[in-house]
Amino acid sequence: MQQGEIHAWHYASRKPVKVRWRDGVMVAMEAVEAEPPSNLWIAPLLFDLQVNGFAGVDFQRDNLTVDQLLAATRALQGSGCARYLLTLITDEWPRLTNRLKRLRQLRSSSPELEWAIAGWHVEGPFLSAEPGFHGAHNPALMLDPAPEHIRELRAIADTDPLLLTIAPERQGALEAIALAASLGIRVSLGHTNASAEILRQAVVAGATGFTHLGNACPQQLDRHDNILWRVLDTRGLTVSLIPDQIHVSPALFRLIHRALPGDSICYITDAMSAAGAPPGQYTIGSLNVEAGEDQIVRQPGALNYAGSALRPIDGVFRAAQMLGRAWEEVWDCFSIRPARFAGFDIDLLCGRAADFCLLQFSQGESSVQVELIVRGAGAGRGDKFQATVTSR
Ligand SMILES: [Zn+2]
Repeated sequence: MQQGEIHAWHYASRKPVKVRWRDGVMVAMEAVEAEPPSNLWIAPLLFDLQVNGFAGVDFQRDNLTVDQLLAATRALQGSGCARYLLTLITDEWPRLTNRLKRLRQLRSSSPELEWAIAGWHVEGPFLSAEPGFHGAHNPALMLDPAPEHIRELRAIADTDPLLLTIAPERQGALEAIALAASLGIRVSLGHTNASAEILRQAVVAGATGFTHLGNACPQQLDRHDNILWRVLDTRGLTVSLIPDQIHVSPALFRLIHRALPGDSICYITDAMSAAGAPPGQYTIGSLNVEAGEDQIVRQPGALNYAGSALRPIDGVFRAAQMLGRAWEEVWDCFSIRPARFAGFDIDLLCGRAADFCLLQFSQGESSVQVELIVRGAGAGRGDKFQATVTSR
């Protein structure tokens, strides 16, 4: 029997709590008078909707092994992110679908992976092939979505949570969105130059998200009418942002937070294999990229970014820094909000799985360091993963 108790500061109430769990389930969460150590905080898991690879492991590879998948997953957990949607990017349709089938098989061989890989995010090939909008995806492989594509994805993923990023201006996309929504697939718009009217129609058809706003668009935009303004002027979408201080400039990051309702923003890493790994040469599928000391991932010679090298826990602190807020005020954006968007409730509540992050702050000479522990009791384990964050 696995049980335990933690006395810490609650990240949302900022008050002392005692949390008890038994057999992987939280059985008590009491507000108490006694103060815990001032540096010890409890918060829900981080949950990432978009991970293409991590710690040197590229999820787009067809020769991926269970051990590599486990290594990447544990490294992510060491960054506070216990669960995620494994993300597959544009490829030839049969290769993409075979990759998804194979990854599901790999995942099924490990209870640890079954729990951590909460579902799948298919980003492409139903995206814009326009310059700038396709980003690092190969425009030659883009397709118009047909109903058979959507049904095939649903059949392969079975009942797994599935998120599809799609450009709604593609031929047949609005019908595909409606079909996907009816089959329980969550639809996020992205890599798109859709008009305001098509964005609105996509929301009516059932789209609920917008993928990495501020990216997958050209460097130069029309000041009067561009995809940023159109999305900011569209209601009904949960917008994901990459909070690494690189993909979205700090000023734009703040403006997006002012323009949108607070509960409609969530953070993602869009991490690729260079995240949680040293600078160097990496791949995203067939694409060779390089990650510099500045953590910017680029195709050699190209200006656009190709995924990020961001760790989830760093994203929380960088977002807080950009907004001039405390980390605990932005935590939900990388935690319960993206989880809810994907269909999971991970709030700290009695009766829920005893999965949480425990943050221990220590004051270094010139920086604040955070020790972070993820207790993945939901997977039947009691593992602790530790990461250190140095404030920038
Ligand atoms: Zn993308």
